[in-house]
Amino acid sequence: MRSLLFLGNFWICLHFFSQNSTCNILPTPVTFVKAGSGNEFLETQKLSFDSNACPEPINVIFAEIAKLYLPSAHNYLDHKADKGLIKFQYISGGYPDSYSLNITSKEIRIAYTSPASCFYALHSLFQLIQINPVDSSLKLPLCFVKDYPKFSWRGLHLDVARHFFTVDEVKKYLDLMSMYKFNIFHWHLTDDQGWRIEIKRYPKLTEIGAWRDSTVENHYATSPRTWNTKRYGGFYTQEQIREVVAYAADRQITIVPEIEMPGHARAALAAYPEYSCSGKQQPVPGLWGVFEDVFCTKDSSLHFLQNILEEVMELFPSQYIHVGGDEVPKTRWKTCPNCQKKKRILELKDETELQSYFIGQMDQYLKKRGRNLMGWDEILEGGLSPGAAVMSWRGTEGGIAAAQQGHFVVMSPGSHCYFDHYQSKSTSEPLAIGGYTPLEKVYDFQPVPQELSAQEAPFILGGQANLWTEYIPSFDQLTYMTYPRAIALSQVLWGGSKAPYQTFEEVLKTHHIPRLMGPILNTHTSLSFMKPSFKFKRIPNGISLGFEFKDTRESVAVSSNDGHDGVWLDHEKTLDFKRTIKKTRLYNLTFLSPCCADSLTLISHQGLGAQVSYETPPNERYNSGDLTLVDGQFGARPWRGNQWAGFDTNTVKVRLDFGKRIRITELELGFLYEPTSWIHLPLEIRVSTNRGKDQSYKVNNERCNLKFQAKSDHIFLHIEGLKTIPIGFPGEGNIPWIFCDEFVIK
Ligand SMILES: [Zn+2]
Repeated sequence: MRSLLFLGNFWICLHFFSQNSTCNILPTPVTFVKAGSGNEFLETQKLSFDSNACPEPINVIFAEIAKLYLPSAHNYLDHKADKGLIKFQYISGGYPDSYSLNITSKEIRIAYTSPASCFYALHSLFQLIQINPVDSSLKLPLCFVKDYPKFSWRGLHLDVARHFFTVDEVKKYLDLMSMYKFNIFHWHLTDDQGWRIEIKRYPKLTEIGAWRDSTVENHYATSPRTWNTKRYGGFYTQEQIREVVAYAADRQITIVPEIEMPGHARAALAAYPEYSCSGKQQPVPGLWGVFEDVFCTKDSSLHFLQNILEEVMELFPSQYIHVGGDEVPKTRWKTCPNCQKKKRILELKDETELQSYFIGQMDQYLKKRGRNLMGWDEILEGGLSPGAAVMSWRGTEGGIAAAQQGHFVVMSPGSHCYFDHYQSKSTSEPLAIGGYTPLEKVYDFQPVPQELSAQEAPFILGGQANLWTEYIPSFDQLTYMTYPRAIALSQVLWGGSKAPYQTFEEVLKTHHIPRLMGPILNTHTSLSFMKPSFKFKRIPNGISLGFEFKDTRESVAVSSNDGHDGVWLDHEKTLDFKRTIKKTRLYNLTFLSPCCADSLTLISHQGLGAQVSYETPPNERYNSGDLTLVDGQFGARPWRGNQWAGFDTNTVKVRLDFGKRIRITELELGFLYEPTSWIHLPLEIRVSTNRGKDQSYKVNNERCNLKFQAKSDHIFLHIEGLKTIPIGFPGEGNIPWIFCDEFVIK
């Protein structure tokens, strides 16, 4: 007790000075203070430690931790010493999982409150070590660290169904997680495209369900699609699962398994079609998306799944068992005699209540065995039984509603936590599902929404990033999508003294990227955050493109299709593009950077930077500002969710004002046709100007060229779309989306 009080006071005194110390530990500790002049070090050849005072199982894996940071780590370790350089002291009480680390010129003291906190202390310690290149001795800054996590759920997820990852790859994923103090691994073990966990009672789940005969090769929305017809699959034996669970536990990580139900069930139903509504035998699909065949709600299907959960619980000691519950089409249930009978007997209003019943049955089953159910936020529909927890993915609304109803919540909104999204707007990014979640956005993530009261906020357990692997076919691609974004998330979830983003980026660049990409970890890591960022601004008669470089060695070369080239831009410059009167001009901008090359094509035309007024505003998810249509860039293909103005209305009305009267001879309007994403071309465009009759045009192409003669200071476009999506297309009968980008005025 005395030592805690002492630490507390010491802590308050030091906090004032800590602002001046740059800390290389990520996630940043609650307190980090350099001692003395700030430039003094403990130097040593050996990291001896008192293994008797180091708690189980940390003493056992001490060398494994060291190996993540030090080359030839065994040369540095000496755990035979009775009183080592590193001294451990257990302290009871304090914040959960809090620790302190004190490096003096003579010794290293770690005070811990739990095995997990001792593990965290060691990772912080190893992140501070510098190796002397001359004699390979170790150097540690004299400092004091006091630290504890803000959230108890600091999670990363991995979908091994769409693409399979080996036991060794999963272990490396866990190793990297452990370095950044994540403590939950959400293992998405089943989905339509593969069943990955051995269930002894139902061997066909892996004999049949773990394998598919083909896999779609391009983006889901590409048409026509091409297929890789190589048989694909894999699964984990129960023995392997036990091995991974133990490996994670040693690293203070709890594995939460997910068995998807009642939807995303095609792989299971390929093996046991009798548990679907129709009983029809269908193969394991190699296409992504949502399928209409789901588990039937009849008793035999429920028992089948409960028997599976029985074996799952034997393998995973986690408090929570995740049962999915997301994206469940009710089509089959509506026409299934068994489901309809059940609905009648239970006097349920509709099929969402049938889903609620289904989840409720699983919840009761788990609860009787001392576990809790967790599911995606759809499980709230039709009512959720007490004790069940919600993972909020469709924004934060589900999580807010759940917390207000007294359910525990893990925040994992697509906007900030879907690491299958693009991380830069560069055309050189490898194919991803869509979306745009750059590093800085992850860093800004707030797991506790402002809508929650002080009483409701504690129901937020924490947050988690999800790695859906439709477009992540290899381990290299997986780490590229995960790092460094996971480190930004660890900052948010650990929640120490979170530095300004620029400081974080600097520490990342100088200490963590080299470690991740270095010879020990050799991890494929994204450097997208180091690419120069650029921003468009409206100026009189055009637009200005401002660059923000991350490195003094970066520059931009500009060339154009009419010999207007040779412009070089250095640090933090802007380039102005004025409206060209005579003809359109194409610019090609090439970014030169030590980390990564990139380019951008820009078309300058008479409408560049025109005032855009929407009479029908774009949907807020696909509204990247009113410059989108006149910024000189055509929306990227494949469609990435940004750069386009997307409308969920039948009609789009938009006016472009040029500020003065100009002569127009042609319009080139860009639209998107991606019927698999419900995006269709409009039918017709009506153009009106200051004077003369409106002119109408039919739309047949994504680039629509309209011959036109007018002198006007504006144009008004009335774009008429299809009333509904035609029969035979995905989403038939619904209102189609209209996506526009770049309205080129010639
Ligand atoms: Zn049914």
